[in-house]
Amino acid sequence: MAKFLLPTPTTDDEKFMVEALKEAHKAYENKEVPVGAVLVYDGRILAKGQNQVELLNDATAHAEMIAMTGGASKLENWRLNDATLYCTLEPCAMCLGAALLSRVSRIVYGAKDLRHGALGSWVNLLDKPHPTHSLTVTGGIYEPYAAELLTTFFRNRRVEQDE
Ligand SMILES: [Zn+2]
Repeated sequence: MAKFLLPTPTTDDEKFMVEALKEAHKAYENKEVPVGAVLVYDGRILAKGQNQVELLNDATAHAEMIAMTGGASKLENWRLNDATLYCTLEPCAMCLGAALLSRVSRIVYGAKDLRHGALGSWVNLLDKPHPTHSLTVTGGIYEPYAAELLTTFFRNRRVEQDE
């Protein structure tokens, strides 16, 4: 098992991203594409999620979806206004769509997702302002840590497939 180091955070964004990275590490250990997310509300973590697509045989079981669903059920409210979603990878169109529907206020992500990223890497869903909802985005927080996990994961998978 590869050992991944965690950075020492100095800001709130970094602190919560470390928690998302821990979720991504768990996904890695479960042989899932290593992506993690945490939903933060009122300065505390409301819910966490790790990618579980393989475990659940569900292409929608992304870390972000699990964190948002978990947060909504904890709040007993699907409206996640004022919540911030931290994810180790740029969200896909589904997760970004769900964040808009849930009225999440802010997204903070780590690495870019060139294949599925919906914040500019593949498409930019926020190209046009949303008619009713504004969502602010910060990208690149601890990007190398999130990217290293993914690179290692896919490299190992290729090696396994070649054997
Ligand atoms: Zn997604």
